Amino acid sequence: MSRVANFCPNCGARLTQQERYGRMRPVCPECEYIVFFEPKVAVVVFLLRNNDAELLLVKRGMNPGKGRWALPAGFVDAGEDPKIAAIREVKEETGLDVQIERLLDVFHANDEGLADIVIAYAGRVLGGTLKADDDAEAAAWFTRENIPPIVFTTTDTLIKRWQVGSL
Ligand SMILES: [Zn+2]
Repeated sequence: MSRVANFCPNCGARLTQQERYGRMRPVCPECEYIVFFEPKVAVVVFLLRNNDAELLLVKRGMNPGKGRWALPAGFVDAGEDPKIAAIREVKEETGLDVQIERLLDVFHANDEGLADIVIAYAGRVLGGTLKADDDAEAAAWFTRENIPPIVFTTTDTLIKRWQVGSL
């Protein structure tokens, strides 16, 4: 993702590009403050039911990918445990209560425009009522043979692994 910083968050002076710690970074000529851009982290949750025959997907209600489908997902807030973020996002988007069962993978998702790092978990539904909410337009279960148009590379990669039995 491209990142921009024009002014020093410490003293307000205009930042300049200087080499620090092995690469060009915005540096304040007045107070020497260095801006370090931090990666944005997202979580996605792979939820299956009926002996792992059906996968839960949500239809995105906004861009990027409006109208296409993806795993329930969202950003990890500063200071938040990513597992807690995953449980929270599933609840917000689908109304379902889930537990996280295992880590599936960690992706460097530099092509998606949303997150730099995506943590993918497998989860299990504990309860709740399926109901699309938040930025999801719909939420539904799909079989391997019946996958709708997908928006994100991470979702696509995980579905392909599931389809060939190597999730
Ligand atoms: Zn400064």
